[in-house]
Amino acid sequence: MHLELLGMERRIRGRVPLPSFALNAQVFAHHRADGRPLLRFEDIPLDPTDLRLAVRQTAEILRRFGALDEPEFQQALGLGREMALPSLVAAWYRAIAERHEAAAVGRGSSTAPALDGRFDQIFTLAMRPFLSRCAEVVQQRPELAAWQHPHCAVCGGEPDFATITPAAERHLICGRCGLRWKFEPLTCPYCRNSDRSQITSFATPDGRYRVYACDVCTRYLKAYDGRHAARPVMPVVDMVATLPLDAAAMQRGYTG
Ligand SMILES: [Zn+2]
Ligand SMILES: [Zn+2]
Repeated sequence: MHLELLGMERRIRGRVPLPSFALNAQVFAHHRADGRPLLRFEDIPLDPTDLRLAVRQTAEILRRFGALDEPEFQQALGLGREMALPSLVAAWYRAIAERHEAAAVGRGSSTAPALDGRFDQIFTLAMRPFLSRCAEVVQQRPELAAWQHPHCAVCGGEPDFATITPAAERHLICGRCGLRWKFEPLTCPYCRNSDRSQITSFATPDGRYRVYACDVCTRYLKAYDGRHAARPVMPVVDMVATLPLDAAAMQRGYTG
């Protein structure tokens, strides 16, 4: 299923033009200071026809592999034909940025309505071709090295995987756009707990993968250990290869 989703992402991404949003050292510095993601929804090179196609194809792949039941599938297909789809996706996209802004000014959680979990999954997958194109642009920028937030500099998404570089740095990988950025190796990116006695870390017997589990918020993050590896991280492949680690982490009472 993951490989089919990756195939869909690649086919659509081939048609997405490079975004042209303003990026310079000053813009970076401003966004870094208040943790505001760089990419506004209106700057995403989003063709509504391609977006609807991506939603329908994502729904079909998830249905084929049993990840959606029939009513959910019909609902998702309906979304894929919906003329108002771009504005639904815009609300989904902006909800995360609004949460960061609320946190930055100390208002606590945002007032944005929580999106249905199933649509969250479909929108995340269907927006990948567009968002990863934007992440490509930012990934090349030297200013990215100064980003120290636990959420993504491009889209504000949470990391859903990580990699340990040969220099022993931990780089988080955004679950929405795939951007990679350096983050402290033993701080939980979900609640910022940095008390090492409250972080449980364990590796697979071959040393290829590692789990960082937080005893404060009980969430965990998997990582590919590239320190002695022959190849760099391949997020889709590595996420599938580490499904047994999810089971191990959940057995210990942690959640993804
Ligand atoms: Zn992102
Ligand atoms: Zn935590």
